[in-house]
Amino acid sequence: MARYKGSVCRLCRREGMKLFLKGDRCFTEKCAIEKRNYAPGMHGKGGRIKKQVQGYGLQLREKQKVKRLYGMLERQFALTFKRASQEKGVVGEVLLQKLERRLSNVVYRLGFGNSQAQARQLVRHGHVRVNDRKIDIPSYQVRVGDVLTLTPKAAKNDFVQGSVEAVKGRGVPKWLELDPDNFTGKVLALPARDDISFPIQEPLIVELYSK
Ligand code: SF4
Repeated sequence: MARYKGSVCRLCRREGMKLFLKGDRCFTEKCAIEKRNYAPGMHGKGGRIKKQVQGYGLQLREKQKVKRLYGMLERQFALTFKRASQEKGVVGEVLLQKLERRLSNVVYRLGFGNSQAQARQLVRHGHVRVNDRKIDIPSYQVRVGDVLTLTPKAAKNDFVQGSVEAVKGRGVPKWLELDPDNFTGKVLALPARDDISFPIQEPLIVELYSK
């Protein structure tokens, strides 16, 4: 997670949802959301001041939330939206599909990295091959049939092994297939809206960028 000072768990508590920013910890009962799901600060739990975020503020917050979920910077996110809006289909859904299809996200979903940040680092450092070709661009859009593999060096890494072990129990989204023994994954289909289980209101993001 870039450019955020303070505990990233505060972001989750502010949004009232798990953003999975701390790797394995997010899947345990140590997760701050599991322990207490209310906004940070003295007014978070039943406090007197309860601001109702509406309109522009609500749209902005939704965009920030989704940006953090995918570990992206503003410029990358805006560019992804622009590309989504140029394609056929419902803009919000195309946007989410593009975000899911990012190589770094797929590496994360397959459990090769235990956070979006770690997955992006694996890609950036050239540890991910797509159809036997090194791809070190996190925003690369995977296609149906693509086969992802990790380099032997990355597969030996303790963090990677621990992360894959953890994902074996959780499973991967149904549009992906994982072969944990060979550190290989396959894209079985394009992600559909229903495959994204986070509570995201993408129309708010579309409204924001349509101003
Ligand atoms: Fe969010 Fe829980 Fe992970 Fe902290 S541990 S970043 S609260 S999901």
